[in-house]
Amino acid sequence: MTVRDAEWPVTEGAGEAEIEAADVDIDESAVRSTVKGFEEVGAGDVDITEADLLVSIGRGIEEEENLELIEDLADTLGATMSASRPIIDNGWLPKGRQVGQSGKVVTPDVYLAIGISGAVQHVAGMKGAETIIAVNTDPNAPIFDLADYGIVGDLFEVVPELIEEFGE
Ligand code: FAD
Repeated sequence: MTVRDAEWPVTEGAGEAEIEAADVDIDESAVRSTVKGFEEVGAGDVDITEADLLVSIGRGIEEEENLELIEDLADTLGATMSASRPIIDNGWLPKGRQVGQSGKVVTPDVYLAIGISGAVQHVAGMKGAETIIAVNTDPNAPIFDLADYGIVGDLFEVVPELIEEFGE
């Protein structure tokens, strides 16, 4: 496979292309990686690639207990929760929720990035979102180079205000 799924939105006529088998002559010594197996991710959990609205959380959340705040925001907005890799590596959310180079590529209508710096490996998974909104205390965070709307502020102050505003 040369193109990751969900990298681009599905267009009209997709799936109608003719598939041709090509004979290629590859020198085995030039092959530097092999597929050892496949691991099913996200089974039993939601498919974040299908979500129109993603609330994504990063290391700025600090503690697992604080995720409840982001869940409240996601519930208020009717959004699905996703995350940057540190959140997944900590075991705070399932692997299927990871956005990025070693996670999933998502193309929602709205991607709300909270406490996420915008590392290239993360951006690789969400740069195709229609509208990107970022909340970060650091005005120089790379995520703001990409964001359509940005809030420079502490998520522990901003998120409760968003919940209150959208909850009405
Ligand atoms: P950080 O970079 O630590 O950023 C945290 C941000 O939170 C900072 O910008 C900070 O200013 C902000 N912040 C802190 N406190 C608050 C607060 N109270 N309110 C608001 N903002 C706050 N990463 C992925 O996400 N997905 C991948 O698939 C992925 N694949 C990788 C593959 C490889 C081979 C490698 C080497 C790395 C990969 N990474 C991936 C990791 C990536 O390089 C970054 O380390 C990671 O994306 C950083 O996550 P983060 O933005 O949550 O954390």
